[in-house]
Amino acid sequence: MSAVLVLNATYEPLSVVSVQRAIVLLLKEKAELLEAAEARLRAENTSMPVPVVIRMVYYVRVPRNLGIPLSRRTVLARDQYTCQYCGATPGRADLTIDHVLPRSRGGVTEWENVVAACRPCNQHKGNRTPKEAGMRLRREPFRPRFIALTFLSDAQNREIWRKYLY
Ligand SMILES: [Zn+2]
Repeated sequence: MSAVLVLNATYEPLSVVSVQRAIVLLLKEKAELLEAAEARLRAENTSMPVPVVIRMVYYVRVPRNLGIPLSRRTVLARDQYTCQYCGATPGRADLTIDHVLPRSRGGVTEWENVVAACRPCNQHKGNRTPKEAGMRLRREPFRPRFIALTFLSDAQNREIWRKYLY
């Protein structure tokens, strides 16, 4: 079963739940359906749309420091498994984590200084800054606000989710 994106009452991404959990929220009228898949769930003599995005009808307070742990997995997911220099998508195993300002030059391991890079780009860049290497970042690295980002790569419905996440 695919995952369902849950938005807060304010339309900000809140979490990701299973389809079953989303249906419970909908049936209890704690959430409203925003996006559904084309397929329908069938049971007995009724059917209902498969939820893809739902929105809580009341505001859910979110803990302030709901930070996403920085790891190889979460950085690759944030960058959508795409080399941030050339745009290649060689697959998880062939992507590396590049420090934009190299560690040897004082670069820190923070969301704002790490990006996914394919091996050739990482090798070419070496211990240089992108500018020195004549390379351009496709997007400035950023601290993701929302945990569902880490699930994005596996989500069947990520195209539909996308407009709510960015
Ligand atoms: Zn590359």
